[in-house]
Amino acid sequence: MPLHIQTPLLTSQPLSLAAGASVLLKLDALQPAGSFKIRGIGYACEEYARRGKRRFISSSGGNAGIAVAYAARRLGLPAIVIVPQTTTQRAKDLIALEGAEVIVHGATWQEANGKALSLVGETDAFIHPFDDPLLWTGHATVIDEIVAAGEEPDAVVLSVGGGGLLCGVHEGLRRNGLAHVPIIAVETEGAASLAQSVKAGRRIELDAIRSVATSLGAKQVSEQAFALAMTADIRPVTVTDHAAVTACKRFLDDHRVLVEPACGASLAPVYDHAAVLNGFSKVLVIVCGGVGVTAFQLDQFLAAA
Ligand SMILES: *Cc1c(COP(=O)(O)O)cnc(C)c1O
Repeated sequence: MPLHIQTPLLTSQPLSLAAGASVLLKLDALQPAGSFKIRGIGYACEEYARRGKRRFISSSGGNAGIAVAYAARRLGLPAIVIVPQTTTQRAKDLIALEGAEVIVHGATWQEANGKALSLVGETDAFIHPFDDPLLWTGHATVIDEIVAAGEEPDAVVLSVGGGGLLCGVHEGLRRNGLAHVPIIAVETEGAASLAQSVKAGRRIELDAIRSVATSLGAKQVSEQAFALAMTADIRPVTVTDHAAVTACKRFLDDHRVLVEPACGASLAPVYDHAAVLNGFSKVLVIVCGGVGVTAFQLDQFLAAA
């Protein structure tokens, strides 16, 4: 039994009307641990446990850290999540709630990550939030479920942070004979590490993240994500923070599901009938989810954006 669940797939009338195309929603916001991340991280943790690893170490204070903690609890193994001082109390509480040990170390994620790496012993597995082929293989199950449901989208919309979801969805399309289906890869403007890399023709590193979509805040995408973007039909799109948060609020009203701005980024071009979707008749949106915001915070973001 995998650690993720098979999530609902539904045709959204409000989003279909907004986009002028049939819009399918894959509701990975309903995964245990609150995001798609458990697909890949659950698969990787199971595989590392099978190879004899006895403990998991992560440095993500976000959905990846929560997924590692959840996977460890389900597998009956300990997990340590090392986070920087900037991590919110809410994030630390959510990780601790899953039974993992939370250690606060350093002022930045780089420092926390350095500490995490220094703790990795021979029987430990370090779980990267996006750059591990095992993660991509696990994330690919999201496409297996679409195909098993008898659906064949003519475009897939997803959000990009470090590009783990992108690599996984591409692997899923490929292993189901759908490698030709274009992927609309959405980032917020202040976290556009993929879009800027594609534009520059090389894998750039952002000097800072300037977005409320913190789960998209990888300064640099993985080599694999960049290579895919240069060779497969991947179309980078950027949206404003305001558009991402507005989409979260509309989605909450329309479908009664609260998602992070990182996920709202994918919903924004659909709600806004963006030109990038012209010509498609069946658009699949990966509703990647995220537990990092409250409804109250969305209003605060909107007031500030
Ligand atoms: C991690 C995450 C992303 C980005 O995924 P990558 O694999 O880093 O590209 C998007 N949305 C949510 C909610 C996430 O947790």
